Amino acid sequence: MSKKKNEELKKKLSYENKNGWDLSHSSKDKVFKFSEKYKEFIGKCKTERETVNFVFDEFEKKKKKEDITVINRGKNIALIRLGSENGMKLIASHIDAPRIDIKQKPLFEETDIALLHTHYYGGIKKYQWFNIPLAIHGVVVKENGEKTDITIGEDDRDPVFVIPDLLPHLSHKVIDEKKVKEAFDAEKMNLIVGSIPFDKDEKDAVKLNILNILYEKYGIKEEDFISSELEIVPALKPRDIGFDRGFIAAYAQDDRICAYCSKEAFFDAKRNAKTVVALMIDKEEIGSDGNTGAKSRFLMDVVIEILKAQNRDVTFESIGEFFKNSEVLSADVNGAVNPMYKEVHEKDNASYINKGVVMTKFTGHGGKYMANDASAEFVGKIRKIFNEADVNWQTGELGKVDEGGGGTIAKYLASWNMDVIDCGPALLSMHSPYEISSKTDLYETYKAYKAFFEG
Ligand code: MN
Ligand code: MN
Repeated sequence: MSKKKNEELKKKLSYENKNGWDLSHSSKDKVFKFSEKYKEFIGKCKTERETVNFVFDEFEKKKKKEDITVINRGKNIALIRLGSENGMKLIASHIDAPRIDIKQKPLFEETDIALLHTHYYGGIKKYQWFNIPLAIHGVVVKENGEKTDITIGEDDRDPVFVIPDLLPHLSHKVIDEKKVKEAFDAEKMNLIVGSIPFDKDEKDAVKLNILNILYEKYGIKEEDFISSELEIVPALKPRDIGFDRGFIAAYAQDDRICAYCSKEAFFDAKRNAKTVVALMIDKEEIGSDGNTGAKSRFLMDVVIEILKAQNRDVTFESIGEFFKNSEVLSADVNGAVNPMYKEVHEKDNASYINKGVVMTKFTGHGGKYMANDASAEFVGKIRKIFNEADVNWQTGELGKVDEGGGGTIAKYLASWNMDVIDCGPALLSMHSPYEISSKTDLYETYKAYKAFFEG
């Protein structure tokens, strides 16, 4: 056979991933414009509560006649566009992110420095959180039940906070010679919050000064910390990366990049006969437990609200029927191949930056333990939707077999007897304080979600 014929055959039969920047249909201007709006969102929404508030405000502005919303405890939100058919097309993302929480009795003084005890949340590499500017976001519930919102460290005129690292000159024994996993003691991750004494003869005068400032500024007393949820997050603004500005660095792109794309897709999608839902879940990073996590009853409450709004009977059977007729994208990110650590991936089944939104058939670890393994039929259906909508997509496995692994909310959603597949962009430096995404992958994720809602 001639070389030309071989080439033709290869083109016809082989499968190859494409770089999003090479594709004509996603023009660079459109992608960059979309990215600017995303950067605004990701810079503003640094906690699950802030994300719910932001999304709800936008919903109120953009909602159509057939749209309803359900909020759970300020930490979950479901955007719902009612259709006539039974079942839903659901895109479920999570809006919690790895961070550092403040303990319930946090404030203490040591060597004339006021500090807060902390307890980290989710899978962090502890060393990444030392000596970077940090902000405090959250709520304090006072004794009278009044709730005070606190955000400090984001405005350029605000102070920031720092967990101090040890100087290299003296860290040989206590840090450098240990294994990384053991070198950084979580109980040493205390946050500097002050250094000026209230009065020179007072014991713990720096702590007293901080208490006084907190009382004057927010009206909160020491005991109020016990009923608070204060989250320490990077005080870093989203920025473009590279001379060509192709990447975005920002905190908590896992998984608010998917939450953002699902909300944009929800507002932009053409109407479907099926009900479409963009659902944002909490507590994914710590195992999906609790009354705002994916294992909670909240999803069933959403379905009950839909059935009621559709004037359908709400029975055990009708809820089951509704779930059975539903299709789900578990919208979560994947770990892109880091060029310096290619060895943790198997190159043919890894996900790559710029190669589009990633479909992950299964997550889990070892012999597919703890995995939602999407069926061939469902993968086929989603693949067809994406291809017909010209979405740039790839498949991806999270690392080599037996290298490690991880889970998403997919398996909890699937336990309701819905078809579920993981689908989201691949990030570099996932779970770090400054995660990296690709602008073309961001845009293809939005396109994929929109196509799913419309398909
Ligand atoms: Mn995630
Ligand atoms: Mn995660």
